[in-house]
Amino acid sequence: MIPALMPTYNRADLAFERGEGAWLWTTDGRRMLDFGSGIATTSIGHAHPHLVRTVAEQAAKVMHVSNLYRVPQAERLAQRLVDSSFADSVFFCNSGAEANEGMIKAVRKYHAENGHPEKFHAICFEGAFHGRTLATLSATGNEKYLAGFGPPVQGFEHVPFGNMNAVRDAIGPQTAAIMIEPIQGEGGVRPADLDFLRALRAACDEFGLLLALDEVQTGMGRSGKLWAHQWAGIEPDVMSAAKGIGGGFPLGAVLAKEHVAKHLKAGTHGTTYGGNPLACSAGNAVLDVILADGFLDQVDATARYLWDGLRQLVARHPTVVSGVRGAGLLLGLQCTPEVVNGEMQAAAVAEGLLTVAAGQNVLRLAPSLIIGRAEVDAAVEMLDRTFTKAAERLRAAAPAK
Ligand SMILES: *Cc1c(COP(=O)(O)O)cnc(C)c1O
Repeated sequence: MIPALMPTYNRADLAFERGEGAWLWTTDGRRMLDFGSGIATTSIGHAHPHLVRTVAEQAAKVMHVSNLYRVPQAERLAQRLVDSSFADSVFFCNSGAEANEGMIKAVRKYHAENGHPEKFHAICFEGAFHGRTLATLSATGNEKYLAGFGPPVQGFEHVPFGNMNAVRDAIGPQTAAIMIEPIQGEGGVRPADLDFLRALRAACDEFGLLLALDEVQTGMGRSGKLWAHQWAGIEPDVMSAAKGIGGGFPLGAVLAKEHVAKHLKAGTHGTTYGGNPLACSAGNAVLDVILADGFLDQVDATARYLWDGLRQLVARHPTVVSGVRGAGLLLGLQCTPEVVNGEMQAAAVAEGLLTVAAGQNVLRLAPSLIIGRAEVDAAVEMLDRTFTKAAERLRAAAPAK
């Protein structure tokens, strides 16, 4: 019989009762170190006192009023995001997919309002992930996810990630934008070369296209800078954010330069929940932490320490893992063809560590940004035990020479 909770996920048989910082406690009393963060979402850890207090106080006052009225919490959060990014204006919504929908609509509207309604195509990349709505699935382009859902939404072309010749070849009279994750998260923690991102910016300027960045996973300090594109020293025209922005409370955002944002006039786009007082109070509390003096420097330092630890694991366990990639606290361990990332993820759970599998047989680490060296040491130790056992199993299974 079908479970009451629709079976769209293969869930691990773990349920959590409470969390504190980087740690979670299961309902049967086990303590687990969380290096998955609910898929890069609980950016300031579990039960952060400032976030908990802010959300509880706001919930007791007013949670939701709709966008028919002014929402001071949203005005404040938007202003703070504008002050700390390339953007001039922000639209709030509830998820990453919804932020990308808004971004795609903003791109199309921009060209339509500039007299080019035929320009509605976005150049996207193989291995991308942009969400599960019909348009964002089409932008994702993964045949497996699209199967059975009718014709994809028109206007998304896919070229190999990192291939500038392919991008230039794909640009045509209908091209409106280039849409890319600075680091492909679900696709296997694959960072775009910084020079590639700069070349995309230059191509957008040359051909009058918009650079649309999906920073749903890479944003809000995850890369060690507030926005991952800052590593390349470029600015997009429009960008989506979600995941870490609410620290676990559902919140998404479209950040845009004025030349894009000004076309989304009253009535062109909307949401009932988006940017409500509760969600935006969560967003403000998360920003209080992430924008505090020295916080991102600390993330960067911790990330480099974690990177070193992972490099040592690769050196010690070459039959299990072959490399590290990513940026900041979004790192991927490349599993060798002899092992399966999902099995490594399950084996790490047995050692007390939560991670997330990603594409290309990668084991993804995305701890909350508040961790320090002690949590890194603990995680590296757990992975060391996980990989030692995996290597032993491989040796035992190998045919005798
Ligand atoms: C998770 C993710 C999304 C989708 O976000 P949802 O909140 O699940 O809709 C979109 N883009 C990227 C890069 C993501 O990592």
